[in-house]
Amino acid sequence: MESILIEKGETMPYTIVNQLIPESLYRLKSPYPMVPEYVTIHNTANDASAKNEISYMQRNTAPTSFHVAIDDQYAVQAIPFTRNGWHAGDGQGPGNRKSIGIEICYSKSGGKKYAEAEANAIEYIAHVLNQYGWGVERVKWHRDWSGKNCPHRIFDEGRATEVKNRISKRLLEIKGIEKGEDSVATPNEHIPSDTHKAAWEWAKEKGFLNGEFPRETLTRQQFATVLMRLYEDLNARFDSK
Ligand SMILES: [Zn+2]
Repeated sequence: MESILIEKGETMPYTIVNQLIPESLYRLKSPYPMVPEYVTIHNTANDASAKNEISYMQRNTAPTSFHVAIDDQYAVQAIPFTRNGWHAGDGQGPGNRKSIGIEICYSKSGGKKYAEAEANAIEYIAHVLNQYGWGVERVKWHRDWSGKNCPHRIFDEGRATEVKNRISKRLLEIKGIEKGEDSVATPNEHIPSDTHKAAWEWAKEKGFLNGEFPRETLTRQQFATVLMRLYEDLNARFDSK
């Protein structure tokens, strides 16, 4: 798998662009074949677009490189997932040799464009995880590998947990869509899915169900209790007339 695969008819909130480095640059920027095991998240710490970020990476003579840059409109890939990049600052460690480096653009100034770039990156990374059959534990920060304060904006805003939660939520949704489930938009076991929310609230308010574990299966004995509550409720209505 060299890149993200898009299903037929699937729409993404951004456009995927291939701007792959020429093989002549492999020696400098991507010397090793790679079997990826992780995704590493970065903030660019500048305000360049994804396309410009990639162009600059290709143009400069430093070995520094990464696989994908994502902004508010584009996810631009420069290196196949089957080759390494020099982005993690851990030398020959797993950051550089076993992880897909993803740069989120516009992090210097932040604001709306950054927020959209980050949302796009969350979407993109969830698809990468799904594609490899990985969980969110495969997502690393640049800091995990080398201690560098990157992705700086996510850390400065205290949103590291939030970002990982959003990735895992989106991953569950993507898996649910593939399995044809009605909705797993809220994977929390204490929250009913959108489809069943209204009925759940009604049954809870009426006292037919106790309002716990909306996503668990109903046993025959629990069903008997529900039937009895329904029956008693109906009787009470007729008696009061
Ligand atoms: Zn970084």
